[in-house]
Amino acid sequence: MLSSRVVSTSISPSIASSRTHFFVNKNQISTKSSFISNKFSKTLKWYTRNSRMNKPNSANKSLIRATAQKLTDADQLIDSVETFIFDCDGVIWKGDKLIDGVPETLDMLREKGKRLVFVTNNSTKSRKQYGKKFETLGLNVGEEEIFASSFAAAAYLKSIDFPKDKKVYVVGEDGILKELELAGYQYLGGPDDGGKKIELTPGFMMEQDKSVGAVVVGFDRYFNYYKVQYATLCIRENPGCLFIATNRDAVTHLTDAQEWAGGGSMVGAILGSTQREPLVVGKPSTFMMDYLANEFGIQKSQICMVGDRLDTDILFGQNGGCKTLLVLSGVTSLSMLQNPSNAIQPDFYTNKISDFLSLRAATV
Ligand SMILES: [Mg+2]
Repeated sequence: MLSSRVVSTSISPSIASSRTHFFVNKNQISTKSSFISNKFSKTLKWYTRNSRMNKPNSANKSLIRATAQKLTDADQLIDSVETFIFDCDGVIWKGDKLIDGVPETLDMLREKGKRLVFVTNNSTKSRKQYGKKFETLGLNVGEEEIFASSFAAAAYLKSIDFPKDKKVYVVGEDGILKELELAGYQYLGGPDDGGKKIELTPGFMMEQDKSVGAVVVGFDRYFNYYKVQYATLCIRENPGCLFIATNRDAVTHLTDAQEWAGGGSMVGAILGSTQREPLVVGKPSTFMMDYLANEFGIQKSQICMVGDRLDTDILFGQNGGCKTLLVLSGVTSLSMLQNPSNAIQPDFYTNKISDFLSLRAATV
């Protein structure tokens, strides 16, 4: 396997195996591929600088703490930060059902002048499409407050000045295509390649578009061998071609009956055939956190990350140097949090975000 370089290093080695880093393969920073390498090395420097800034942060400190504290004084937490970043599924809604008390809680936080941001690793929708989902659920959330990993992929390409004459091959669904289009990038693949089959007649070979300079891989319900081969050819044969993953989530919740193979399964297939580590733009990589901090001019110590998953949401917050709150309204139970084998401890935990209201009332 080709060696890869860890750019974001703000977490403890004890959890280094938790898929937490922003990986960059040496090939991706090869000096031979000038158009990307020059821009990319700037981004690397930016990342390295930010990572260094993050090092002595609460992420490492929080790992020393034995256990998370049960939230008892919501006002104290609310008053200690200016921004709340919320994961969506398991925090705001479950599937298509709003979690109890969410609208009132968000209203209260807005009234107190808090900035609210909604972050999701789900790349199947664009910001606009997510905006519609919020609207359908009766929540007043603007598109500019929503950060999906589909948007992060396009934002990342913008951040490195990815050339507009290069194309992006997409293994993923509509959300990624919409965000690439909005960012002005040419793309191919996506749902269009969902029905394609390969007929292995003697001597058959597939040819990839030589102008593909990046492959973006996200969750894809129409994943197939054609896409694996096409993406593999681009990454292995097009000089300097980037391999970008929207996330590496092991599982996702397509139905409430069981866990389903997540975006990590598609990423894993391409990793297997290319032997290249992807560059991850979704949680728990710090790209979105850095982007948010830059975009809104927020200090990371003034952010509280609220999520229902330890290995993505809480780690994302800790990697970014933020305060963290785990809610038990999603995939993590109290026994999972308190299991001795769990090394990821948030600052606080509570049942659901509307506890902000009852815990406030109790303290007034
Ligand atoms: Mg969640």
